Amino acid sequence: MGTLRLEVFTPQRRVFCAAVASVIAPGLEGYLGILPRHAPLLAVLKAGVVYCRDAEGKTERLAVSGGILEAGPVKVIILADEAELAGEIDVERARRAKERAEKRLRERPAGLDLARAEAALQRSLARLKAARAI
Ligand code: ATP
Repeated sequence: MGTLRLEVFTPQRRVFCAAVASVIAPGLEGYLGILPRHAPLLAVLKAGVVYCRDAEGKTERLAVSGGILEAGPVKVIILADEAELAGEIDVERARRAKERAEKRLRERPAGLDLARAEAALQRSLARLKAARAI
């Protein structure tokens, strides 16, 4: 079946780089599945979990806050605003972020930036999902 090279970057760092057998990423209109020899593809990602499986069948999970995915036959590059490997996620911090965002969305204080609160909620949910905490 072959492998793909998956590279995940944020503006600050390279988060992940390895040969993988498949990648599943959160496209705007649903999850995208990518295997080796994929046709060229450019997609916008929303906040969610990237799953990649290596040749031995071991799956790694990353939380991404949204970004861009470029796929070709041998390589997938993800440029994300923020990304963390499941093992790097501080679950308590993500829970606090979720509670803060939910409280704002519930109470709708004057001057609330709704899109920002919604985006913060989606980031926190992606982190909790990647960390298998929800
Ligand atoms: P918080 O309100 O907790 O800062 P946030 O969603 O606003 O959450 P971001 O702006 O997306 O945070 O990220 C800021 C930095 O903190 C990034 O480097 C990101 O990787 C890191 N980060 C955010 N939340 C977590 C977490 N729960 N565990 C590990 N790193 C995190």
